[in-house]
Amino acid sequence: MLSKVLSKNSCAACKFCCSFRRKSLWETPLFSYETVDKLSRENEYGVVGEFRMFQTAQGQSFGRLVLEGNYRTDDPEEEVPCTFLDPQKGCILKGEDKPFDCSIWPLRIMDRNGELVIALTPTCPTIGATPDKNLAELVKTGLGEKIYEYAKTHPYIIKEYREGFPIIG
Ligand code: SF4
Repeated sequence: MLSKVLSKNSCAACKFCCSFRRKSLWETPLFSYETVDKLSRENEYGVVGEFRMFQTAQGQSFGRLVLEGNYRTDDPEEEVPCTFLDPQKGCILKGEDKPFDCSIWPLRIMDRNGELVIALTPTCPTIGATPDKNLAELVKTGLGEKIYEYAKTHPYIIKEYREGFPIIG
């Protein structure tokens, strides 16, 4: 969804957003109930994920990928890859199984004191910490609307606002 500002090649070479330090575990991908059902047992990818299930206030179930047990050291800088990351090929999931969160990263929809905003995660090595005019334009000309619409039916993707995340829309 961000291919106009983020090339597939730069993402493939980077994979920063598919590996997690302990302090970044709040960012691990969230999956719909249907996708969890598929990926938590034998599936076409040959990789079975472990998920923790949650429910929204409206009773919608979703799953968070569990990576906590994969750390091998006490180093807070240690990163563990997403279960569905292939070191050579990148994400192995097809579009329909890839979390929406992953397709819009480094954008996030966040709740800032009760108001929904679209913000930039300032750590993407390619986009950088400040949204440029191309990214702002992309959000303004349709992508922002798409994110708001998705969040209406999948409110679990809404994250609490964090200081330092520039607001775009
Ligand atoms: S699901 Fe795919 S895109 Fe998302 S973090 Fe895992 S490997 Fe990366």
